[in-house]
Amino acid sequence: MFIWRCCRNVLAVRENLRRRRVDVEADCPLCGDNGETEVHLFFRCEIARLFWFATPLQLDVLGVDGEDFLSCWECLLQKFAQVDQIDEILQIVAFGLWRIWKGRNAVVFERQTLDPIDLVRCLRMQTNEYRGAHSATMVLRSELVRPPDVTCPPRRTWQKPLPGSVKANCDGAWVAQTKRGGVGWVIRSEWGELLRAGGRRIAWCGTALVAEAEAIRDMLGICLHNGFLSVEVESDSQEIIRMIRGDSLSATEIEGILFDIQVLVRRFQWVEFRHIPRLCNNAAHEVAAYFFRAGGSEVWDQSGPAWLHSVLALDVIDA
Ligand SMILES: [Zn+2]
Repeated sequence: MFIWRCCRNVLAVRENLRRRRVDVEADCPLCGDNGETEVHLFFRCEIARLFWFATPLQLDVLGVDGEDFLSCWECLLQKFAQVDQIDEILQIVAFGLWRIWKGRNAVVFERQTLDPIDLVRCLRMQTNEYRGAHSATMVLRSELVRPPDVTCPPRRTWQKPLPGSVKANCDGAWVAQTKRGGVGWVIRSEWGELLRAGGRRIAWCGTALVAEAEAIRDMLGICLHNGFLSVEVESDSQEIIRMIRGDSLSATEIEGILFDIQVLVRRFQWVEFRHIPRLCNNAAHEVAAYFFRAGGSEVWDQSGPAWLHSVLALDVIDA
């Protein structure tokens, strides 16, 4: 899927965005020069070259010729065509491409720095894990120290955001039979007071994921508009949070929304996306359900409707 997207030149590298008339700089976020095309990012960039050479393949990408990603990929296929373990090698190449893409996104969206050696370490872990899962011995797998799963902390109630930031809970409502949806979001201060809340009905929406994604996009727009520039975003959809964080491939139906979200995020001082259990997202859930039933579209200020305050009160008791 990922490689297919590279071949079709639809990955959100900067040159592709500019072709779609999106206003971004053209430079490669890793090395700072040249236009960021797929070919540059994956094969020509200095960081990519160091990375590939440090992988178990010891690949010298200067030997990978091609005008576009597809021809580079074909060049690689040809290069390894005579090798017995070609499947295994291509698997490493695919993981490698994915590592570069994830690393690049961490630089662009989380302002991290990228060390090719760290990339190689992640790649080794990934390939070992893959082989472990596909071999009878499981030796490689047991050598791995897996980080604890921190995506969903074991808590049962809403929690206040860090001082100086706001917390935005988002949720979507959706009914498969009618394809009707609703979005809801609630923004609260570090003291747990209501700052803004709102939502709208979506007349037609293909999947629940679309509603979840639209809730986050709407909320980010409202935060920017009101000057809330440090935001902890919470959703009970693990899928959407993983996609936003680049931990999993984005679903086609929400690619456009995810792109908008990534563009919006750059205008904030600090944004963190977190997956939380349903119980902790009750207020946003109620708001989404309200707009699903009542229709329309509204943004409430601190006063908000009375029923919302009773929902919010439940959250602060244990927070
Ligand atoms: Zn570069």
